Amino acid sequence: MRLCRFNEGRLGVVDGATLKDVTAALDVLPGCRYPFPAHDVYIEHLDRVTERAAVLAADAPSLPVDGATLLSPVASPGKIIAAPVNYRKHADEVLTDPALHQNNPGRALNIQSTGLFLKATSSLVGPGQGVVIRKADRRTDHEVELAVVIGRRASRVSRRDAMAHVAGYAIGLDISIRGPEDRSFRKSPDSYSVLGPWLVTADEVPDPGSLDLRIEVNGETRQQSNTQHMILTVAELIEMASSMYTLHPGDLIFTGTPEGVSPIAAGDRIVATIDRIGAMTVTARVDDTAPLVA
Ligand code: MN
Repeated sequence: MRLCRFNEGRLGVVDGATLKDVTAALDVLPGCRYPFPAHDVYIEHLDRVTERAAVLAADAPSLPVDGATLLSPVASPGKIIAAPVNYRKHADEVLTDPALHQNNPGRALNIQSTGLFLKATSSLVGPGQGVVIRKADRRTDHEVELAVVIGRRASRVSRRDAMAHVAGYAIGLDISIRGPEDRSFRKSPDSYSVLGPWLVTADEVPDPGSLDLRIEVNGETRQQSNTQHMILTVAELIEMASSMYTLHPGDLIFTGTPEGVSPIAAGDRIVATIDRIGAMTVTARVDDTAPLVA
């Protein structure tokens, strides 16, 4: 099943170019009182939601996907985990480009040495919300990545058992300011983690290790690869992540980007595509927001 969140927090089942509004399926979720759970309750109960959504979809109002503002298909992940240098050719380009390694070629060390990093959850948006360029005077790059949505708690799981903890997949954009700061700082401005266009449940992606992925900027292909070139597989990334911290329903793992990272600027139209998931269009715009003092 393909489940999207759209407009003012509505829930949709995507079928080709149309979506069915099944927002009422969210009524199966338990009510919450403070302190709220630190994980995503919708993903925790995804089986019940999809069961209800399938029933409701038969008579649900439909609308064109193109007419909906697509939000992140996961609203409240507890963590956004990301893999650095998880494609060999991307590691090579980091090594040879000072703008990428910042006189610290150690950044291109293999992922087994660097481990994983975290992005702020406040950086998460859906494709319909777009990327707001935070520092127009700095180089800001696109990174297209397969994103994994964790479905069940996992701690110290082996790669052999890892895939049972996956709820589904989406396309992730790990938007990145280049520079000397820590990854978590450069990659966490508001809107610098894009997730979409929808959640594809794991049963529809039998092998996440053989998916073509691509990104175009203003019609020009910038990155084009296949997840078979990942250094650590999805299962190995779950093993590595869960060796350090417990994974909870809704936690996201951005699995790393292939070669071809390059700058984006306000006005750009970005189209990211991954096999078996779909395509999403994201526009970049200038940050014209005033300082927030509320
Ligand atoms: Mn990345």
